Amino acid sequence: MKVLVTGGAGFIGSHTVVELLNDGREVIIVDNFVNSKPVVLDRVRKITGKDFKFYQVDLLDRDSLEKVFAENEVDAVIHFAGLKAVGESVEQPLRYYHNNLTGTLILCEVMAKYGVKNIVFSSSATVYGKPKCVPIKEDFPLSTTNPYGETKLEIERILKDVTIADKDWSVSILRYFNPIGAHSSGLIGEDPKGIPNNLLPYVAQVASGKLECLSIYGNDYETRDGTGVRDFIHVVDLAKAHLKALDRTVAVKGIDYYNIGTGNGYSVLEIVKAYEEATGKKVKYKFAPRRAGDIGECYADPTKAEKLLGWKAEKDIYQMCKDAAHWQELNPNGYED
Ligand code: NAD
Ligand code: UDP
Repeated sequence: MKVLVTGGAGFIGSHTVVELLNDGREVIIVDNFVNSKPVVLDRVRKITGKDFKFYQVDLLDRDSLEKVFAENEVDAVIHFAGLKAVGESVEQPLRYYHNNLTGTLILCEVMAKYGVKNIVFSSSATVYGKPKCVPIKEDFPLSTTNPYGETKLEIERILKDVTIADKDWSVSILRYFNPIGAHSSGLIGEDPKGIPNNLLPYVAQVASGKLECLSIYGNDYETRDGTGVRDFIHVVDLAKAHLKALDRTVAVKGIDYYNIGTGNGYSVLEIVKAYEEATGKKVKYKFAPRRAGDIGECYADPTKAEKLLGWKAEKDIYQMCKDAAHWQELNPNGYED
């Protein structure tokens, strides 16, 4: 099977490409490196001992994208490419809407033109807004609180309309919870720009001495210990879900939605403790006010993915912390080195 992976040089994309290549699938990557670096591709080759085609193409550049489809007989697309920073999306809404929405529209138009109608799309638990309760099921009401989330929800709706209009299309929407960790080789991982916004990269940089102290945003939530609770999932488990989703997408037409999480919620304090236990390193922290837009609790009911995709997360929180620490240790400045 020939799989075109948009955003394949990114954090989740690179881990998914490793799993695809290890599974013997042919891969074509399209990425413009707006949030990734070329060296990732060498690392993926090193891990797998396998090669793939790469095109440095922006999804907004229709002509170049068409060339990719003209040169390759693509069977299915996994669509990771998009901008993903919530805060930045509030500051630069037009850039986010243009990149994420127009990029996806152009991708789908080109796919249709070349008769490629199978797509797996990276959505997010952010489309559940402030959920009425946890665990979250796929049929919960949808809402968003920022432009980034809005692009995810809008793309879900666009893809649904596409499947209604043309019964040949087949779409799997994967709603990721909180991907963390890194490949066990320590060769690929998460490489945030500047000071990390997300919890795990921040924790890893405090533990390694690069950052001084973690600010825990809020200890007055209605949770076990007052700190926020999330469903952290190992990025390799998440990557594997894409292979299962791909097979179902090709086999079953129409659209379906899957929560991709472990089903377990961990609080920020529990993460700090797990990281310390898993790595033997100290994570200095202090409590700070709640972060604007945050919700108290968010974790998945992942039973639909298990039932329909035959996928289940396997790696526990200690493995996630260990692998994050290993990546941090080998790449203190991310891919910059
Ligand atoms: P990432 O930024 O590491 O990867 C995205 C890749 O897409 C980057 O390599 C970037 O250069 C590329 N890209 C962006 N716009 C492009 C364009 N117009 N043309 C070509 N390439 C383009 O992000 P990630 O963490 O790997 O996330 C992958 C997808 O999963 C994104 O769509 C993201 O919104 C979604 N997602 C991520 C998370 C998370 O916590 N990481 C959670 C839920 C959903
Ligand atoms: N968080 C924190 N300090 C940080 C970063 C995050 O206390 O420096 C908390 C945040 O308030 C939330 C949890 O960690 O409760 C997960 O945050 P992250 O940004 O990683 O994911 P998201 O908010 O997208 O679920």
